Amino acid sequence: MPVKKIGITALVPPELIFACGTEPFDVNNVIPASRKYQGNKLCAWTAIWKEMLVKKEIKVDSLIVVAGGDCHNALVDGQKAAMSGIPTHFFFYPFDGGSAYMESQLHRLSDFLGGIKYPEKFKEIRELKKQGQILDKKRCCGKLSSGEAFRILISFSDLAGDLAGFSRMTSTLEEINIDLMNRIALIGVPPIYHDFHEVAHSLGLHIVFDELPYEFIRHGGTTIQEMAHDYCGYTFARPLEFRIDFLKKELEMRKVDGVIHYTQFACHHMLEDEIMREKLDYPMLTIQGDLPGNTPQQIKLRLEAFREMLDRL
Ligand code: SF4
Repeated sequence: MPVKKIGITALVPPELIFACGTEPFDVNNVIPASRKYQGNKLCAWTAIWKEMLVKKEIKVDSLIVVAGGDCHNALVDGQKAAMSGIPTHFFFYPFDGGSAYMESQLHRLSDFLGGIKYPEKFKEIRELKKQGQILDKKRCCGKLSSGEAFRILISFSDLAGDLAGFSRMTSTLEEINIDLMNRIALIGVPPIYHDFHEVAHSLGLHIVFDELPYEFIRHGGTTIQEMAHDYCGYTFARPLEFRIDFLKKELEMRKVDGVIHYTQFACHHMLEDEIMREKLDYPMLTIQGDLPGNTPQQIKLRLEAFREMLDRL
């Protein structure tokens, strides 16, 4: 019997999806290369995946919408996708980090997926995430390009739906030596431009931290209880102060010189910009993207001006 493909709209523990004998498919991962320009929209990410799901350009057997957590647009566009007939489950993270609530959500998710059939997948994914941590460290000390590191880390949301293939992909990356001049933390949601990391690098900005993809590799667990304990620390679903405290430690550890806050048109995370600027004591550039494709010229100019400003410090 073919393995069921489960669409996910944001971080949903892939350990559990694989352990239930199904394969996750992060519907966001097709957007940056999609070149789709959706009319009548708020955030392009949710508008495009909703349209692709409804038109069956993305084919999934079921959908898990993260309804309580990091994205409010996904809640509405997820319901629109569900109305097209896709069996849909709504998944909630606890705002207060309560692990008992998280555990109940994981049990409900497991029931929706038909129950745990392959518990060995938990350990397999734990090993892969350790590999992800190593790659992240290599990128941070200039042994891996930020573009390559980003592409791998962002794929940890669904591990490309193929654990063996993903493992091969992570083990074939070759070490290089990069002169790290300006160490940059990229915070906020990931850029919708597929070439953003390469563009930043070509302009002398080396991204040593990707906030959201880092969440994908730092949570895990080999039982529902362990996962509940761990995933309730998913920073994007928690109060801002919790997320900022985490960011402060991470940015200091990575010795960053500056921060780029990427925001997306019509995304509520834009409202966090003034707080990030107030609480994070680093030179900060805020940029806003809208439609997928190449990094626009205007943003390239702003990145260049930011690099020049860092050079003068
Ligand atoms: S950019 Fe914002 S609104 Fe769009 S999918 Fe991400 S969190 Fe949701």
